Amino acid sequence: MNSPDIVLRGGRVIDPETGLDEVRDVAITGQQITAVGNGLLPAPVDLDVSGQVVTAGFIDLHSHTNEIPGLRLRVLDGVTTALELEAGATPVEHAYRDAAAEGRPVNFGFATSWALARLEAVAGIAVTDNLDFLGNVASPAFQQPASAAQLGAILDRLAADLSAGAIGIGLLLGYSPGTDPDEYLRVAALAAQAGVPTFTHARDLAELVPDTLIDGAEEIVRAAGQTGAHMHYCHINSTSLRHIDRVLELVGRAQAAGSRISTEAYPYGCGMTGIGAAFLAPERLPERELTPPDLTYAPTGERVASAERLRELRAADPGGLAIIRLMDEDDPADRALLLRSLTFPDAIVASDAMPLTWPGRVPDRMAWPLPAGAVTHPRTAGTFARALRMLASDAGSGGPVGEYGPLGLTETLRRSSLLPARLLQASVPAMRRKGRLQPGCDADIVIFDPAAVADRATYAQSTRTSTGFSHVLVNGTFVVRDGGLVTSALPGQPLRARPR
Ligand SMILES: [Zn+2]
Repeated sequence: MNSPDIVLRGGRVIDPETGLDEVRDVAITGQQITAVGNGLLPAPVDLDVSGQVVTAGFIDLHSHTNEIPGLRLRVLDGVTTALELEAGATPVEHAYRDAAAEGRPVNFGFATSWALARLEAVAGIAVTDNLDFLGNVASPAFQQPASAAQLGAILDRLAADLSAGAIGIGLLLGYSPGTDPDEYLRVAALAAQAGVPTFTHARDLAELVPDTLIDGAEEIVRAAGQTGAHMHYCHINSTSLRHIDRVLELVGRAQAAGSRISTEAYPYGCGMTGIGAAFLAPERLPERELTPPDLTYAPTGERVASAERLRELRAADPGGLAIIRLMDEDDPADRALLLRSLTFPDAIVASDAMPLTWPGRVPDRMAWPLPAGAVTHPRTAGTFARALRMLASDAGSGGPVGEYGPLGLTETLRRSSLLPARLLQASVPAMRRKGRLQPGCDADIVIFDPAAVADRATYAQSTRTSTGFSHVLVNGTFVVRDGGLVTSALPGQPLRARPR
């Protein structure tokens, strides 16, 4: 056997699948983990990582940050795979082509996009590479019911993307309240037939919008039951808000009855989306107990003073990102609600990472450190460190990450790596080699000091990087080394569903 290229020596190796939690050496040859054991032979790169945790890199199912600058914030938060599965992309071949041509620091992949297919078929808006996606999703033309012919065109486009390897179907359903519930079932049936999951931003809950065409949670559960599709319920925290117990109870019952439903949550109380979104219309804010000052227009940091100002901003820049103060994670009652989503059995940690918005000219995308002025949601830079702090540290004292907290360390890691890998592995074979720290698995590895892990991004300073992740490897290549970004490293590889 060839000697390994890299040995990570004497770390606390945690494998979330086998439950291994012991001091071990880890050997890497090429792109793979080749040995986990004690006293491994020296390697050209032989790193003492004693006192640190060595585990599988984090797999983010929900990343709208798909360019190099934002992805660099992600790797410094322990992410080794970032997938765009909720909004999705179409044609997915273009998304894969462009990402591969430029290179990515993390592994990447895309679902096909129901919203984009719908924009084209129903609103007549051509899908181009520089389309203002959120701005157009805000248009009433997008939100109307589809005719039979339009639905046929949507399904055709989604099917074509699935043939090209799309990792499921992303459905931004909550942005199109006029969509016929039957359309959703047809899309779910297509996913079932193709053997891939769907990823849904749920329609409004009946408690929030009594005249919604169907309750958003019931709709997901019904689609799983009727079509047999795997329905993934995106950011269940931010669409369920104070009705989380009702929604989780419903999901839990459906899961117990055998329906394939999975959930994810992000560890923040504020949301972020285009200010023109249907549910942010001034007259609809009371549905979510919001007032205009609960919105901050991210490009300028302006707190929206009035309904009139909100109308102006929605008209001028419907796709402009806004921070939405849905809940206050520092408030004990709201924090408890948030924890219910995050600690629900097998709920996955996923970020909903947002693109970086630059005022004026977008700087050179390879520039690092990140040039000043970029704005995003802090979840882009801090989700996984924050999840570790909230779920695996003594939340009361804010102490270091360890065995405490509502979930403990191994379970928090399992929800950040193994569970997302398992969710996808039936359709994406490469996922069988990810999310685990075992010989034969891909060398997507994160090494961190539990005492030092912390998110630093805030709503005011949203691009501050997390601390404590000392080394991050993607396919056997260091993208973070000794706590610093390796700016030349773009080892990310495409992940696709296998053709059927
Ligand atoms: Zn969403």
